[in-house]
Amino acid sequence: MNFNLNNIIRENVKAMKPYSSARDEYVSDGSKMIFLDANENPYENGVNRYPDPLQRSLKEFIADQKKVSTSQILLGNGSDEVLDLLFRAFCQPKEDNIITLPPSYGMYTVLANLNEIEERKVLLTDSFQPNVNEILKAADANSKMLFLCSPNNPTGNAFDVDKVIQLLENFSGLVVVDEAYIDFAEGESLIQYLPQYPNLIITQTLSKAYGLAGIRLGLCFASEAIITVLNKIKPPYNVNELTQLKALERVKNIEAVQTEIEDILRERKTLIKALENISFVKHIYPTDANFVLAKVDDATARYNQLLEKGIVIRNRTTQPLCENTLRFTVGTKEENRLLIEALNKLVKA
Ligand SMILES: *Cc1c(COP(=O)(O)O)cnc(C)c1O
Repeated sequence: MNFNLNNIIRENVKAMKPYSSARDEYVSDGSKMIFLDANENPYENGVNRYPDPLQRSLKEFIADQKKVSTSQILLGNGSDEVLDLLFRAFCQPKEDNIITLPPSYGMYTVLANLNEIEERKVLLTDSFQPNVNEILKAADANSKMLFLCSPNNPTGNAFDVDKVIQLLENFSGLVVVDEAYIDFAEGESLIQYLPQYPNLIITQTLSKAYGLAGIRLGLCFASEAIITVLNKIKPPYNVNELTQLKALERVKNIEAVQTEIEDILRERKTLIKALENISFVKHIYPTDANFVLAKVDDATARYNQLLEKGIVIRNRTTQPLCENTLRFTVGTKEENRLLIEALNKLVKA
């Protein structure tokens, strides 16, 4: 492996000084102080003070659960902010490129376009796995990041670990593994490989299994060296106080999250069984996520028919390798029952 973080960081990022906030200069040690340093309104209402820029309480809890150190964690305003910070830290506009593996999550493309970074697309194989040889062929000295979404959105499958390892060992840029759906997967997170691979970056989110899409909290796990760079460029107060409090409450109650995950996985099984008996469903793809991708006779027609019955799913027919596919998110037992009922009605119609 010829990975060298120093060759990856943009020169302007290396040279810049981070913004130093009042809360960076004076970190409370718990003793009673009078805070006249940040031009805040002094009247207490629960959120009149700026939040902790490094989200220490929340990180300590997460570090414990994920078995990493707090210095290996960056938190962001959703994974979307985490991904944006990665582009801005490591990709030089008009010079560098990233590699993505369609069909996959649309944000990588949006961020590449926004940051004027060339996107090199290497299609997944027919079984929706990374095409390792083609990926390595597409890479050059300016390939700063490779995005692996596993379990992948919209296909649902997780990538073979040996393929990911091959890429970690042979790609000379950063390998970003987007684990937004990892809590629904059979296999484990790649967090355990962080000590071995200095080019590994893992992103997760509280938006899916943790049921907190509305508070916007994304997580990034990487080497301390990478996290230091990201901390340097992030907006000082990027995770607001309400989000930090709500997230902490939720991660402390991991059993409740686990119960919901189990319910969703049970419903996923019910949905797959039902889809198998729908005559216009031609193929159901294996899934490690909280959604199911299925090939149907006419995705756009079926999508519109379900809309008429008040059910919104995702039509993925325009995505490469996804012609005539629909993506069904697994809902509650009742929502699932209504979906299956609607599908059966369409068969009879
Ligand atoms: C839903 C999703 C996310 C979540 O993004 P947030 O900004 O954290 O809500 C990230 N990656 C993928 C692949 C997703 O499908």
